[in-house]
Amino acid sequence: MSEIKVGQFGKIGENMVAFELSKRGWIVFLPPYDERVDIVAMKFICSECDSNWNVTHNLQCSNPDCENHSEIAKSKIVKSKKCTSCGTIFSRDKISSQSSTCSICNTNTLEEIALCNICDSEVVVKENNCTNPSCNSSNYKIVFRSIQVKSTHYVDNGKNLGFNFKYQDLLNDDRHFFVVYLRSIEDCKETHHYWVMNKDDFKSIKNIDTVSFKIYQNDRGHYNPDKLLPFKYDEVKACELQNKIKNATNELELLELKEQLKKHDPFLKLDEDL
Ligand SMILES: [Zn+2]
Ligand SMILES: [Zn+2]
Ligand SMILES: [Zn+2]
Repeated sequence: MSEIKVGQFGKIGENMVAFELSKRGWIVFLPPYDERVDIVAMKFICSECDSNWNVTHNLQCSNPDCENHSEIAKSKIVKSKKCTSCGTIFSRDKISSQSSTCSICNTNTLEEIALCNICDSEVVVKENNCTNPSCNSSNYKIVFRSIQVKSTHYVDNGKNLGFNFKYQDLLNDDRHFFVVYLRSIEDCKETHHYWVMNKDDFKSIKNIDTVSFKIYQNDRGHYNPDKLLPFKYDEVKACELQNKIKNATNELELLELKEQLKKHDPFLKLDEDL
């Protein structure tokens, strides 16, 4: 396996982290120039329950008792006409698609209308797009996170992780996160490691009051992986828990599994309500 050029490694780390965020539903932006943050991530969430918001354009039958009420496929929509003056809806077989005259009130006020193929009710744009099936909210909000990526190498004969840290990297905002990235190759198998920290996590592993950190800005730190363990993403355990979550039957079990998942997938910290 050929080695990556030193100058490209940092940018590769940023892209790898961006990919991990994409997998978790974040829309990611990478600045074209070196800025104080490496990635900006945004997400649409429900303003009532904070669940992910479905941003695709969905249609539904307006009749709450119809099986097309939750969603109707475009292929099942029947086009017809409605009189804007008297409100009469004509089913397709009762009116020509060329005609614009209402046979009830005799005005030229017919407009095209989309109807449900099952119950003939009007098809409307779905306003409630919360992914939580028990939530009826039709309002969403956009949340933003900023991310600093630190690409690392093993140092001290593989005992520690080394990365540079600048004082200006420490943005004093709860929406700011640090992700330490390490690429390792063992027995010809490439693996990617991630540690995710919020600003308080970071302060717990790094003394930010040193002179070199404050004055000289470029502080190269060596970090013991054991100390970083609480922030490490464990892909295998997270995957096992996600499978259990899919098959969970009771609410209490589901909550417990989700709590465990947070510990093994610290990227989920970005989803926490701030
Ligand atoms: Zn909701
Ligand atoms: Zn009419
Ligand atoms: Zn219907």
